[in-house]
Amino acid sequence: MLSVNEALEQVSKHSFLVPTAQCSPLEALGLVLAEDLVSPVESPAFDKAMMDGFALRSGDTLRGSANLEIVTEITAGTTSEETILSGMAARIMTGAPMPPGADSVVMVEHTQIDSENVDRVQVLRVVETGSHVLKRGGLLTTGQVVIPAGSVIRPIEVGILSDLAGGSVTVRRKPTVAIISTGDELVPAEEEPGPGQIRNTNGPMLAAMAAEAGAEVHRLGIVRDNRDDLAAAIVEGLRADILLISGGMSVGVKDLGPALLAENGVEKIFHKVDLKPGKPLWFGKQEGGESPALVFGLPGNPVSSLVCFHLFVRTALSQLVGRKLTSPFVPGFLLTRDFVNRGDRPVYYPAYVGRKEGAAATIVPLDWKGSADLATLAKANALAVFDANCSYEAGQFISAVMV
Ligand code: AMP
Ligand code: MG
Repeated sequence: MLSVNEALEQVSKHSFLVPTAQCSPLEALGLVLAEDLVSPVESPAFDKAMMDGFALRSGDTLRGSANLEIVTEITAGTTSEETILSGMAARIMTGAPMPPGADSVVMVEHTQIDSENVDRVQVLRVVETGSHVLKRGGLLTTGQVVIPAGSVIRPIEVGILSDLAGGSVTVRRKPTVAIISTGDELVPAEEEPGPGQIRNTNGPMLAAMAAEAGAEVHRLGIVRDNRDDLAAAIVEGLRADILLISGGMSVGVKDLGPALLAENGVEKIFHKVDLKPGKPLWFGKQEGGESPALVFGLPGNPVSSLVCFHLFVRTALSQLVGRKLTSPFVPGFLLTRDFVNRGDRPVYYPAYVGRKEGAAATIVPLDWKGSADLATLAKANALAVFDANCSYEAGQFISAVMV
């Protein structure tokens, strides 16, 4: 049986990059940049005033005050070719290009204008050379990588791209995820379960996790445990980049998944991983079709399904779009109570990550009743990772997977 890390390696190894697409900077929000954003220009493109005030030659103010002739006015979006000589100043607004000859800006608050003589300005202090001037190229040089490929576009990047990308951004298109919920016992959320039946928890939950992880979701609904229905759903689902099948992947009499996937050209890469919950995970890949597809057979138990999604499916989704960071593990949480894992598998235990003021982030394992207990996870925001056959003491640092 593979360890979690070995299984993650296999998932990464068999992942592929989805095609790129062009969109506007705003449409790129939440997507992943496919090519480095290289600055095509230097920024700012001109020496720029950073205050409303007067552009002048700082040498004129060395005595602590100066009386200068206002020869021109420059507002943002305009330019002036008037050269500022000694004894002259230009009235200038924030964002406007500096006029030739001037080297500094004095804030309007540090000047005075005599109402009798509005063509002159009295500067009331020594102005340091370069004051309130942003030099051309002071922020960005031409050719500088501003946002590396693989970055997720946040509102910050939307702003930067709007400045530098010329209106069109090359991103990875959203990966598509098809979701099949198998089980003769399942009814949809809006139906009352009959005797022996349960509601389909996994379908909507997996759809929500996939959407949150940046995928375009295709819900193929509940599929009964019979060959024809499941085969048809699998054919449809393999058109997506990733097919998730919940339930039906073990060795029960109605577990038809593995055989039907093989019949449809999906090669098994691994079945079963050394973790709890989530051991029955099945992973395969279909090659050769129009485009490849990864297939995850997720355990039917909702928490097992959730754990497998956060570890393996999320990793695959990150790889498909070329994200830079793909490890699901976050180290460094301070355990707040003792914990013993007597089992022979590493356990991914529902837990709550909090923060005490001025201290490291803390993690407390919840009172959890096993892989069918999803309700307790309403209080969780992480899965604490505990190795097999290990005792942990309060005060130790451990890793977690955020959920
Ligand atoms: P299976 O993997 O099909 O053997 O299912 C394992 C357990 O998970 C059984 O108790 C199922 O009833 C339950 N289960 C399977 N699919 C779902 C689902 N979509 N939602 C909630 N529970 C499920
Ligand atoms: Mg089943």
